[in-house]
Amino acid sequence: MPEDLEKPNNEVLLGPTCHSCNSIQFCTMGNPNTGKENCPMIVNSEIEQEVMKLYKTDEFVKKSTSVASIVEAQGYIHWPRLKDTIEYAKGMGFKRLGLAFCVGLRKEASKTAEILTKYGFEVCSACCKTESIKKTDVDVPKEFTMISKTGYPIGIMTCNPVAQALLLNKAKTDLNIIIGLCVGHDVTFTHLSKAPVTTFIAKDRSNPHNPAAVLYTHYGESFISRDLKMLQKEKKRI
Ligand code: SF4
Repeated sequence: MPEDLEKPNNEVLLGPTCHSCNSIQFCTMGNPNTGKENCPMIVNSEIEQEVMKLYKTDEFVKKSTSVASIVEAQGYIHWPRLKDTIEYAKGMGFKRLGLAFCVGLRKEASKTAEILTKYGFEVCSACCKTESIKKTDVDVPKEFTMISKTGYPIGIMTCNPVAQALLLNKAKTDLNIIIGLCVGHDVTFTHLSKAPVTTFIAKDRSNPHNPAAVLYTHYGESFISRDLKMLQKEKKRI
């Protein structure tokens, strides 16, 4: 953990740092970590009341929590994420699903739509390049268009998460599903989507759309270490 997070009376302590706690031994077993001065169960115990209020009074939170937990209990480890998504949507009573997909994953979107339709859903979808707006028209510098800095064709038309959200909002979808939107475009889409959003495929071309691989593999470890070294060198030069 960074040093400043451990210092008492430091404002940073206001934020929880559960990532540096062996939570399996503590909150997972029903207890706060008394050895950790910024355990939120100790420092922010007043939040518990607010949290419980939401679980008891917010109809969406109530239903979503219950359905998600039932899906977890029914299919844990055995069901693929697509089945989890289908069962969650069914449990929530969602009928119309929206797919916000990356043009590079159009085949995956098409197959997903076909499967969801077989399960009885009505499926709408919006491709990231819809509206064909040039990147330069939304203030992307020209040198960041056409060819990526890593040498791959990326085109002149912008990904358009704003249009994807507005189109699916107009279609009155009950749940929107992200299929491979770029990092950042997914944030914009989620920000504007009126329907709740879940991610089916998180795009990561370097790791066959399995972003967590960077945490498990030698490739991931060496990539991050090289990248940090390079950034350190650049910092020195500045
Ligand atoms: S809530 Fe407390 S006990 Fe649980 S992971 Fe966070 S710091 Fe650890």
